Formats: sequence, C-alpha cells, structure tokens
Amino acid sequence: MSNTKNITICNTLCNTEILAIFNDHDPALLEQLAQEAQKITRRYFGRTISLYAPLYLSNHCANQCVYCGFHASLKIPRRKLNEQEIEAEYQALAHAGIQSILLLTGESRQHTPPEYLEAALKAAKKYFANIALEVYPLETEEYARLNAAGCDGVTIFQETYDQARYKILHPAGKKSNYAYRYDAPRRIALGGLRQITLGVLLGLADWRQDILALHAQLRSLEKEFPGVDYAISFPRLRGTYDYKEKNYLVSDAELVKIICVTRILFPRIGINLSTRESASFRDRAVHFGVTKISAGSSTAVGGYAGLGASPACPPDRAVLENAPQFAVNDERSVAAVKAMLEKQGFDPVFTDWRCLAA
Ligand code: SF4
Repeated sequence: MSNTKNITICNTLCNTEILAIFNDHDPALLEQLAQEAQKITRRYFGRTISLYAPLYLSNHCANQCVYCGFHASLKIPRRKLNEQEIEAEYQALAHAGIQSILLLTGESRQHTPPEYLEAALKAAKKYFANIALEVYPLETEEYARLNAAGCDGVTIFQETYDQARYKILHPAGKKSNYAYRYDAPRRIALGGLRQITLGVLLGLADWRQDILALHAQLRSLEKEFPGVDYAISFPRLRGTYDYKEKNYLVSDAELVKIICVTRILFPRIGINLSTRESASFRDRAVHFGVTKISAGSSTAVGGYAGLGASPACPPDRAVLENAPQFAVNDERSVAAVKAMLEKQGFDPVFTDWRCLAA
C-alpha cells in the first residue's frame, strides 16, 4: 500500500520522504513524478537535449575495480592512442557531427600522465566546442593545468557511497582510497573547471542510500562552489567479465524514479544518460528530466576511426573488439539519435555555447 499519499512532490523533500517514494511501487506515483519532472525540465531546458560522445584514449589501468572490463588483473590487450591515432579519432567523431566530447582513460597515471592529457586536450580544441575528461583523480594544480589546456569539465564517479561495499569493490590501487576520490570534485572546482559531473554506478550497492548520498554531496558542492555547472550521470552496471553480483541491480522503473526525483530536487542540473541504456529506454527517458545523451558511442580504445585508419594506426582487432570497458546497449548512430529526438519534438543541440573570439 502506498505510504506517500500525504507527501507533496516538491524540491524540499526530506530524506525520509524520498525513501518513502523510492520504496513505493505504486505506478500512479511514478506517473505523478514523471509529470512533475517533465514540467520542471521544460521550464528550465525547454525541449533541448545535448548530444555528446565518449572517446577512450587508453585502457591501461592500475586499479582493480571488480566490476570493470579494464581492471588491472585482466589479461586483455592494453593500448593507449598516440598523437596520430588521437587525431584520427577526433576527425572521425567531428565528421559524424559531434562537437561535445568526453575523453576517457583507464586510471593509470603512469601510462596517461597529465602531460598526455594536456596534449590530447590541446589537439581536441581544433575539433570540438566542449571537451570534458573522465580520468583518474588529480591534484588541484593539475586540474588548473588541464583547465588552461582547454578542458571545460570533469566527470568523476564515486561509484558507491557505501564505504563497506566500496572497500570490497576496490581492493587495490589508488582508487581504494575512498576519501581521496570523494574530495576530487572540490579539487576540480578549486582548479577552476566550470563543469563537474558526479555519479554513482547503479548496481554496486543499495541504490536508495547511494542516491541520497550523491544528492548530499551535490548540495554541499553547490553551496561551496555556486558558480559551477553540475550534472549527474546514473549509469547502470552492464555485463562485464567476471562480475556476477546481482543483488543490487536497478530496474527500469527504479531508474526512471531516480531521474525524476533528482530532477525535482535539482531543477537546474544536467542529467546525462549514456548508451549503456537501451534505445527504447532512452527514447522514453528523454521526456522525464534527461538533458544530455551520448550517441554513436564506442567504448573501445580507437573505436571511431576504425581499423588501420592510417599507417600510423595499425589494425588491432583484439583491442577494438574484445576489450570495451562496458557493452554499448544503444548502438544507433549520431544521425539516428538526432532523428529520434526530432521525431519526438526535441531540439538536438550539439553545442550549448561557442567562443567567438579567435
Ligand atoms: S572502473 Fe576505472 S579505475 Fe576501475 S578498473 Fe575500470 S577503468 Fe580502472
């Protein structure tokens, strides 16, 4: 039976009320949340949805996250893109119409030091209007350097806020230091970055508690750094290698609820949805609060320029086909995602700003 009938759906919900909503399976409540979230999203974002693409620069990683296809103990072909290969990837993505990219690496400072990231950022500026990074956590001065090299934003996921689960899931490597990772968004803001994306990997722990903790971290950052643009991603765990834990999986209805409640509590933040989700789920979710979706994604290193794009970029089928970080679920091209949005009455946006100065 619903225990939420006396709760007003608004942005001042307390944690007890949010948990009551999360634990209430009444479809009528979900519908009410969806309508409210849609209303708020239209008010602040109109009918625009931004498009971006992830680009994996490297799959070297020093950590051992037990749920990830890149983790250090797995015997997979490792590779990082060289200068020419990076250029080829940028050209392929820009050709597809992408103007906003997220550059990713596994977490290996040794293989992809800040200098490597800096060079990749500088090269990206020729092709893209908005460039974000998702890499290992850095120091404040390093974030400032990357900012100066053209980085607009950084994505950093805490993965889970359940510290006991965190310890089990991250048994070795620098990532096992929960506090250092938790403090990264502050260092990013202090480094001068104007966009910060936070997130949890849904499926690692009790999602209800993780979402409350994520909201709490966001509230505290908003208070300390009000000038930053914040966004949240809610990737769900997808089948990877040897991680078989099923206890914490999140259903479609639960993910919709998470998106709607987050939108209601945080009317102005960006909400991203990746191609980990199916095409049919994404087609529906864009109505409830999502503001940015990836399109035409490859999660393999060198996945856009294809095989042997140039003599300097030799074919490496093993890397391209066998070792993505996670499986892409929505495999549609950028053009197909754009067409889907237009068909549903949205305005696909490839860049939300452009520097007019030379
Ligand atoms: S989640 Fe990131 S840090 Fe962890 S193993 Fe995968 S690539 Fe490395």
